[in-house]
Amino acid sequence: MELTCPHCSTRGISAIKKWFAGKAFPLSCSNCGKLSSVSGVLLSAVTGIFYFVFLAAAWFSLSFQSWLPIVLSITLYIVTKFILVWYAPLIPTSETEVRKIWFGTIVFIILILLIGYYFDKH
Ligand SMILES: [Zn+2]
Repeated sequence: MELTCPHCSTRGISAIKKWFAGKAFPLSCSNCGKLSSVSGVLLSAVTGIFYFVFLAAAWFSLSFQSWLPIVLSITLYIVTKFILVWYAPLIPTSETEVRKIWFGTIVFIILILLIGYYFDKH
């Protein structure tokens, strides 16, 4: 099964790959080679919420010396994301956009580490 590319309007995008797509992991069209990603404010909101779920899970895992909270949060994230991705429409994107997303994510992780370091020392 192939999905319609938002750039060239031909069926050049693998439906299976859509399950693994996100703003940081765009899909490339087999006909025109351009990138598209999964749209949706909801999808971004879920990713945002899960940043905090992962942090909480990491804290619980460390506190209780168990991998269970981390494993559960990752499973929940994968299931939620797959359901949302399936219904989200494809939107055109570019390499510049993808680089911006990665930059934002890296900045966010560094911030979290700095905050964690600050609270650890105070
Ligand atoms: Zn295309």
